[in-house]
Amino acid sequence: MSPHNQIHTLLHVWYRENHRFLPWRETRDPYRIWLSEIILQQTRVAQGLPYYLKFIERFPSVLHFANAEPDEILKNWQGLGYYSRARNMIKCSKKIAQEYCGIFPTKYSDLILLPGIGSYTAAAIASFCTNEPIAVLDGNVFRVLSRYFGISNPINSPKSKLVFTELANEFLDQNNPGLHNQAIMELGALICKPANPDCSACPLSISCEARIKNLTSSLPVKLASGKKKKRFFNYFVPNNLDTLWLRKRKGKDIWTELYEPPLCETTSETELPPVPDFFKAIEKNNVPTLQFDSEVTHILSHQILHIKFWKIDASVLTLDPNSDIFEVGINEVKERYAVPVPVMNYLSKLLATNGVY
Ligand code: SF4
Repeated sequence: MSPHNQIHTLLHVWYRENHRFLPWRETRDPYRIWLSEIILQQTRVAQGLPYYLKFIERFPSVLHFANAEPDEILKNWQGLGYYSRARNMIKCSKKIAQEYCGIFPTKYSDLILLPGIGSYTAAAIASFCTNEPIAVLDGNVFRVLSRYFGISNPINSPKSKLVFTELANEFLDQNNPGLHNQAIMELGALICKPANPDCSACPLSISCEARIKNLTSSLPVKLASGKKKKRFFNYFVPNNLDTLWLRKRKGKDIWTELYEPPLCETTSETELPPVPDFFKAIEKNNVPTLQFDSEVTHILSHQILHIKFWKIDASVLTLDPNSDIFEVGINEVKERYAVPVPVMNYLSKLLATNGVY
């Protein structure tokens, strides 16, 4: 008999009475659970829910997802950020289509081998769908365990992950792992919040180390994260708004596979960026002029982007035919192309001002 039996019962009763109604909780379909879990990584429920509903409607099965154009997936993902999640989902769905005949696996040992599925997502799918007894460990669970057991190992150090993984599996209710995992995650989201946990409403309070020793504000411990890298982007848009220029981002960098206007990245802030080589003057000596339009600071998890938009005189230039930049009608951008959020915000404002949208 587990030493945690009594606390498990309290936790599970609390969950049954208090959990939020969320569509992915009402299903054992691994595809839907996978979709929700990937969307909700680094994303709040309120922001992720409309995306989940949109994806389920547009791609009702993993085969629909696998057969969609990658650009369509990215376009639907636009605004959620962390685009590597969407790119990995595309790879994952194709692998399931090819290697599992489109039947989404539910065993942890199969799931963990799929692109973009780490130990947390594999444990969530396996335990929610088939009650496989593997504990989930996300930010909420780290926090609850750190406080409940009074553990001061930093939750964001790789070494501590082993400690917390063992603890989470030791604490797991082997008879009801799916419900237990959902309950502890929900407790972290609703009661044992990062600041001001509501211990008086918590089913674990009777034996919680942090509450008993008054340590709730000092647990969990987190190592300070490194400084964010600063980057300076200069985007070029034509001063005539009939068309825009776009190119697809390549390589291992932020926003890979998204579309953006021609870019000149500089090492520091610039008063006037150089006109890039892919713009050629139609007539020699008729160098296109740049006009500063607007700027924005966009913060990502590890980078701060200082972005400036420049209008360039399109009537006196042509594009280098060897470049990968193409012209596109302005209405198409919003409908068809996935672009980074600061670019879409800029274009929407610009085009609204010009009465286009
Ligand atoms: S008693 Fe308080 S600190 Fe402990 S798990 Fe519950 S909410 Fe968190």
